[in-house]
Amino acid sequence: MSQPLTIGLDIGGTKMAFVVADRQGNICDEITLPTLVGDSHDVTFERIANQINVYLQQYEAIEGIGIGVPGPVDSENGIAINAVNMLWENVQVSDELSKRLIRPLPIYVENDVNVGAIGEQLFGVAQGVSNYIYLAIGTGLGGAVMINNQIMRGVSHSEMEIGHVSVDPIHGRECTCGLRGCVEMSISGKGFVANAKQHYADYPNTKMVEDNITTHEIIRLSDEGDELARFVTDEAGVVLGIACAWCTSIFNPSIIILGGGLIHASYHLLEDKLQETLKQRTLIQNYEAVTISLSKLTNAALGASALVWYYKQSKVKS
Ligand SMILES: [Zn+2]
Repeated sequence: MSQPLTIGLDIGGTKMAFVVADRQGNICDEITLPTLVGDSHDVTFERIANQINVYLQQYEAIEGIGIGVPGPVDSENGIAINAVNMLWENVQVSDELSKRLIRPLPIYVENDVNVGAIGEQLFGVAQGVSNYIYLAIGTGLGGAVMINNQIMRGVSHSEMEIGHVSVDPIHGRECTCGLRGCVEMSISGKGFVANAKQHYADYPNTKMVEDNITTHEIIRLSDEGDELARFVTDEAGVVLGIACAWCTSIFNPSIIILGGGLIHASYHLLEDKLQETLKQRTLIQNYEAVTISLSKLTNAALGASALVWYYKQSKVKS
């Protein structure tokens, strides 16, 4: 019973998921609470601390807390810089929480894509792997890079924004970032929908309904052979192949892990184009070294619980 435990917390725009888990990823306890976006920071952190304090009373073996938040994070100082869907700007997450806890514990705060990457090394497909890329493909597309067992950090906490590298700066669809032809305008939820809308008139036989185009519908119809839906998923496969080729050429990783709901639902439709494009666009020695793999971890809070182990390992090495 004295096996060390950690708390993982994934904070999103609609819910906050908590787990208590051990080093092997076994979950002892979990709960999900709604995120109440209109609440003040005081109220939000009181709610988070109340739940964590319940666990601290219940489990003496808890050694630390890992927290994943969206957007750029200054992980050294525990600051969420711009978590848009929670209306958080420069929020001192670790300070706000630590002053409310019933006993002092290390608190690690990390961008949710980095959490996905770290979680895969502790509990997923990257166990024992030191150099890999993690691409989170959902509404948008974000990335994380693990180099020699260290997450790569950018100077303004906004590294690996591969979703906003352009594949077609002249003719590509306009992105919310202001550029044209960004990767995520082809391979993400918003990219799927935008692509189907742009080419809707070119495919009069499509079964899609123009004012009700969703990613779910695109995937379902692509499975059925609908030509517009196929066009969208084929382009997504090619563009994801290009993005993977960039990653492979620049970082020479052993795995590129694809995580997120959209890619798990659509990978079977994208895989051939992705592999073909990756092979065409990558030096042979890099291509032969890399494997494309779907992520294994589906529980983001469990990924956050891995932050404590990741930081402990990093300290031992440095
Ligand atoms: Zn963009």
